Amino acid sequence: MKLSKVLREMGVLAIFCDLDDTLIPTHGLFGVQIALFLEAVVRDIQDIQYRDIESRLKASNDELFLASGPQRNNWRITVQRLILHYGPEFSHIFWGHYHYLDEIYQKSPSWKEGALEFLSQIAEENIPLVIVTHANKKWTLLKMERLELWKYVAHVYIVPEAGHKTAREWASACSLMKLSTSEVIAIGDSTISDMRPSCEAGISKRIWVNNAVGWDLYKAKGVPAGTLEVTSVSEIVPLLLTKPW
Ligand SMILES: [Mg+2]
Repeated sequence: MKLSKVLREMGVLAIFCDLDDTLIPTHGLFGVQIALFLEAVVRDIQDIQYRDIESRLKASNDELFLASGPQRNNWRITVQRLILHYGPEFSHIFWGHYHYLDEIYQKSPSWKEGALEFLSQIAEENIPLVIVTHANKKWTLLKMERLELWKYVAHVYIVPEAGHKTAREWASACSLMKLSTSEVIAIGDSTISDMRPSCEAGISKRIWVNNAVGWDLYKAKGVPAGTLEVTSVSEIVPLLLTKPW
């Protein structure tokens, strides 16, 4: 049976899907750039232990995300904190390697396994897909261009980086598309930015992409009752074809 028919029978008019770590492996890109930065710093400053600076960097990044969203400028604040901790005499070394962190925003991960097939099928069947993403706007535009996202999506809703992807943002995305929360499916990898807030907004049809490797913070709180779970994007269409709602 065709996916579009099954969705229609379930009263679904559009799919709302997160981008980072749902369709593209962003966590991996962060991991690579953070490791490059840390390796360069510990190579230049013998007294710093990799594990020590790594945990400080991650704790600072998590704290800044929770306080003020995933802002590009958070890395600058984290580096300032590291300098404060390890000593201002190392300032030039830290800033000398800062570019590794900022380069995240000049790169785009490619597709996760099954993501392109998922998007292609949805586009072929003319099912409206709305990307609900939460990241630096310029970076989002770069990723969209590199991934040629416009080929597959009806709209890209960007939640400002200086804030959080809350229930209000999920509800706004619905209003913007002139859809009620009962007419959409929310898909995402984050319990705190996708599954819990979309549920709070009133979206009862939700699919959690539970990544084996991902940002701990995003899994911290678990998913609301009734959330369906997959471990790969490639499982989404087969799951929908079982008409789960
Ligand atoms: Mg995500």
